[in-house]
Amino acid sequence: MTADATQQARRIWVLIEQEEGIPHPVSWELLGAARHLATELDAQQAVVEGVLLGHDVSGIAQEAFRYGANRVYLMDDPVLAVYRNQPYTAGISQLVETYQPEIFLIGATTLGRDLASSIATRVQTGLTADCTELTIDPKLGILAATRPTFGGNLMATILCRQRRPQMASVRPRVLPMPEPLPAAAGELIREPLGMSEEEVTVKRLRLIPGQQQLNLEYADVIVAGGRGLGGPDGLALLEELAQVLGGVLGVSRPLVDAGWVSAEHQVGQTGKTVRPKLYIAAGISGAIQHRVGMSGAGFILAINSDPQAPIFQIADLGIVGDLYQVVPELISQVRAAQQGDSHVR
Ligand SMILES: Cc1cc2nc3c(=O)[nH]c(=O)nc-3n(C[C@H](O)[C@H](O)[C@H](O)COP(=O)(O)OP(=O)(O)OC[C@H]3O[C@@H](n4cnc5c(N)ncnc54)[C@H](O)[C@@H]3O)c2cc1C
Repeated sequence: MTADATQQARRIWVLIEQEEGIPHPVSWELLGAARHLATELDAQQAVVEGVLLGHDVSGIAQEAFRYGANRVYLMDDPVLAVYRNQPYTAGISQLVETYQPEIFLIGATTLGRDLASSIATRVQTGLTADCTELTIDPKLGILAATRPTFGGNLMATILCRQRRPQMASVRPRVLPMPEPLPAAAGELIREPLGMSEEEVTVKRLRLIPGQQQLNLEYADVIVAGGRGLGGPDGLALLEELAQVLGGVLGVSRPLVDAGWVSAEHQVGQTGKTVRPKLYIAAGISGAIQHRVGMSGAGFILAINSDPQAPIFQIADLGIVGDLYQVVPELISQVRAAQQGDSHVR
């Protein structure tokens, strides 16, 4: 593309989030969405571009090309080795001012939430956070960003008519993961940060590693429990089932509110969005705020003593019964099957 054509291109940007050189998969989910938006906008003019900041991270650009980026802007600088809001905001705002993207998508991760709001403030534009759907308004030709509102009971579609870029954040796993292309090339544009370490006010003195993070969003199997457990002791039973299936524990919100388990296990509107191959919901009624977080699961098995429980409306398989009878039976059946027991019923 010539310099002139580059100037005229309708740019759809995606933040390629990385920490310690490991890209966050939400970046690829957003590139998939950006490709759809580019097609809706006008495939001739629209380009999908990644924005990558860090130190010694140029290899990640190749991955971004495989997931659909036509071009990646790279700021590679020791100052950017560890995420800090100030240099990241300064660097990206500078890129926004230079290249004037129309749309800018950022993952609603801890890092992304911190960064998106400060970029929006710095470049004085609007940000629609935690979107569940992104399309182009066919009449106006601008981004239509949809997100839940009023406690998840209504969906609002928000337009940013005046300011640019139109910014939106999307939580991990809300959008499908696109298939990577086996071989793809794109253009890598290096840009200087223009900020020295002395100018950064926040310093990292030392790193205190936390506990290993629970990877709920990207787990293939989730065994989730709800208020039907009756008390925190029942969680051990679900953890045992999760363990025999090679999965992790999820919960509904009341269990977190009651202090039975930490918030990192919560699935739903105010928790995590998940897309496992198998989701087992035990003692969960299936309130809309829970369902929005797990309805993308490949297969849903619901265990509930109430045959009218709403969770059965979205379940692929439902067992009406007491979870304290059903789950131990499931555990012994799975164990027997794993040991090749021919007496499995
Ligand atoms: C703004 C807002 C945000 C929210 N965000 C979230 C969120 O992110 N995630 C979330 O989960 N919720 C969220 N909620 C709460 C949500 O509305 C529901 O209250 C919650 O999901 C209900 O949790 P539950 O299904 O575990 O409990 P309940 O609705 O009380 O259901 C318990 C179920 O267990 C069954 N049961 C009882 N005993 C047994 C047994 N022995 N064996 C089998 N089944 C049994 C019952 O039949 C019942 O269906 C939010 C609410 C609001 C207002």
